[in-house]
Amino acid sequence: PAPVLTIDGPSGSGKGTISALVAERLGWRLLDSGALYRAVGYAAGMAGLDLSDVEAVTRCAQGTKIQFRAAPDGGETRVIVNGHDATDELRTETAGAAASAIASMPSVREALVALQLGFRKLPGLVADGRDMGTVIFPDARYKVFLTASAVERAKRRYKQLKEKGLSVTLAGLQREIEARDSRDASRAVAPLKPAADALLVDTTGMGIDEVVAKVFAVVQP
Ligand code: C5P
Repeated sequence: PAPVLTIDGPSGSGKGTISALVAERLGWRLLDSGALYRAVGYAAGMAGLDLSDVEAVTRCAQGTKIQFRAAPDGGETRVIVNGHDATDELRTETAGAAASAIASMPSVREALVALQLGFRKLPGLVADGRDMGTVIFPDARYKVFLTASAVERAKRRYKQLKEKGLSVTLAGLQREIEARDSRDASRAVAPLKPAADALLVDTTGMGIDEVVAKVFAVVQP
């Protein structure tokens, strides 16, 4: 099977940025698994579903068509949900909270397994998420778990969302992220935690290049 590098961690740990850079440099495919949960939460919202209705949301997860499309100008990958480009809507912390709510349902997670496994193709895959190294690709050749202090993670997300023109406050964002992280870490199924064989990297105070170098050291020692 194709080699896999899993990069797990809480929101704002730098997973998304680092995964994209490493995948590009390796020439490997990229799986942004968070986007799948965000897409299902979004589709459920669009359908007017009650996000606590397990049966309805599970059916939604099974029926939602999610596609990743490379931006023509080499920009951010677009996420197409049931034919609609939802990239901008999926970025918000509201979408993150909806994703976290539906991601606690085992049947929803189950509905997304085959789709995720399908990303594993030669020459390799970089998989970014919460349970990539623990549940989806437990046999991955390389595993990294990124962390950073809560304050630093909130600041990074704040900067990211501001750059995208979204109106957020740092204090509000930090509260929302902490609530989401504690839910992700305390849920019964696939809780956010490092795989036993993952390299832990605390990225607090580290620049992107430094983190990329650490991850590369794992893949190409
Ligand atoms: O990584 P991102 O912030 O986009 O993920 C949004 C939410 O989706 C997370 O807070 C988490 O609840 C859920 N998620 C998950 N498993 C993954 C990726 C994301 O449960 N592999």
